[in-house]
Amino acid sequence: MTFRDLIGQQQVKELLSDSIRTGRVGQAYLFNGPEGIGRRTMALCFAEALTCEHGGPLPCGSCRPCILNRSGTNPDIIWIRAKEGRSTVGVEDVRSVQEEISTAPRFGKYKIILFEHAEKMTVQAQNALLKTLEEPPPYIIMILISSNSGALLDTVKSRSVRIDFKRYTDEEIVCAFERAHGGGGTDRHILCEYADGIIGRALLMADSAQYENLCRRILECLGALRDGGGAALCDMEELLAEYAPQKEILFFTLYSVFRDLALSARYGEEIPLQNVPAAGEIRKLSEKIGYHDAMDCIGRIGSAWRLIGQNVNYRLAADALAIRIQEVIHHG
Ligand SMILES: [Zn+2]
Repeated sequence: MTFRDLIGQQQVKELLSDSIRTGRVGQAYLFNGPEGIGRRTMALCFAEALTCEHGGPLPCGSCRPCILNRSGTNPDIIWIRAKEGRSTVGVEDVRSVQEEISTAPRFGKYKIILFEHAEKMTVQAQNALLKTLEEPPPYIIMILISSNSGALLDTVKSRSVRIDFKRYTDEEIVCAFERAHGGGGTDRHILCEYADGIIGRALLMADSAQYENLCRRILECLGALRDGGGAALCDMEELLAEYAPQKEILFFTLYSVFRDLALSARYGEEIPLQNVPAAGEIRKLSEKIGYHDAMDCIGRIGSAWRLIGQNVNYRLAADALAIRIQEVIHHG
């Protein structure tokens, strides 16, 4: 992955490319922005450009470090993460890289230390890091990736070049989705509403395996809800609860399934579906649910989403939505 392959974040790309071109690379960076905005990908692009023996800003792709970068095995790019099962990065995690920091790079000019979730560093860990930030060896470049710069000590922040990642425009979101998904067929407005400027969400929505699986599970739940019964309602509530961490993709898929149900009920096979792999199930269910009820559900999904956006408790809004959907589609 190079700067040229990345969609959006033009200012960040220019700033980092220029620093490589002019040889004025900072020794510590703070990449700040929400989860899914592309900080990690950008940091890796920057690291790969810096380690190329030909000096970037676009890596040559054929020198030894470039070849190792392709498989993520370049010893000059080092990640620091919370150990498995731990929610914080401790002082021992920072100390474990001190030796790496004090030895020169194996190949090129630089050695890059990437801190994933820098905001998870304990105060002690940040203090240990400060010692390095004060007098780093000239080949060391540190990138602190953070979604909450408020959790970092002022002394750490003041020694880093801060780069804030901006939300993506709707055009960039659509472009990222189509590049990953391979073509249109989706409702642009709805995609942008649920992605909300976060490219990671658009990419998740474009992940067809995950999308298809979710679509099938929604259809199963809807089939059961239509036939009625408390168990069906519980299943739907469980599905909505399970996807709480990925509520954007859940609501996007819910919308898309009901959009297909509505159009299939009204226009039959004249209208191409968004969820092609589940076309059979959709056609069958659409005959039972009908156009008006499907459109009614779309309205309710939109209302629930707006409530969640206004910080109404997710579980509450999701449970209420499951009940409302059942009210509409159940014909006992
Ligand atoms: Zn190279």
